[in-house]
Amino acid sequence: MEFDEIRTFFFDIEKTLTRWDDTVIGAEDLIMSLRESGKKVRFHTDNTLLTRKKYAEKLRGIDIEASEEEILTSGYVTAQLLAERDVNKAYVVGEEGLINELEEEDIDFSEGAENVVVGLDRQFNYNKLRRAQNIVEDGGNMYFCSTEKTFRRSSGDRPHQLPANRALEVFSEGELTGKPSDYFRRAFKDYFSYYPGNGLFIGDRLADIETGNRLGLKTAAVLTGEISEQKLKNADEIQRPDFALSSLAKLRRRVL
Ligand SMILES: [Mg+2]
Repeated sequence: MEFDEIRTFFFDIEKTLTRWDDTVIGAEDLIMSLRESGKKVRFHTDNTLLTRKKYAEKLRGIDIEASEEEILTSGYVTAQLLAERDVNKAYVVGEEGLINELEEEDIDFSEGAENVVVGLDRQFNYNKLRRAQNIVEDGGNMYFCSTEKTFRRSSGDRPHQLPANRALEVFSEGELTGKPSDYFRRAFKDYFSYYPGNGLFIGDRLADIETGNRLGLKTAAVLTGEISEQKLKNADEIQRPDFALSSLAKLRRRVL
């Protein structure tokens, strides 16, 4: 399949299109050009700092046209899963974006939670670890919204949630709801009507590429984030992209 046959582009947000506080060079132009040429553009992320609505606002604020319905977050995926399992109380290791997304599904955060939901929490501490420990030792489940190691600001990479996951995993293996989990992929299919024959899934992590491959989509890795040439060489078959792009600008040249 050639690039010009692709009708829908599913972009990872963090480190693919944006840094937390800035865009990757060429991102605004690429998205605008794709839309102008009649392509569909959708977005996905494991970052739980913002709700889908806030992400849409943020992207528009940096000149990337996006609506809430076009963005899938692992916070939303987790909220849907809890609702499906009739969970209505949870303890959240995470920030406002995750809490708000769970509130949309009427999850309550009062005492007596029997489940722990873990997103990126920049105030992670010993007390939170202890609270989560108590819940899982009493038989509660733990959900991890991501296994991402770092998130990127223009001033440099900061810890994402993986270091906190590692501490929490001492007490329970938990379940991953972010990329490339079954839950994320199932939600992706429900949330977007996607067409395996002519969709391209673009990301900067092997978890992105695995997600796209398992969805039956074509995949492209941008080598400006976590994936390096070396990482690709050592990657499992399911983590190998159809296309490796040294930058977003390369994608634009191939497509438009
Ligand atoms: Mg990313």
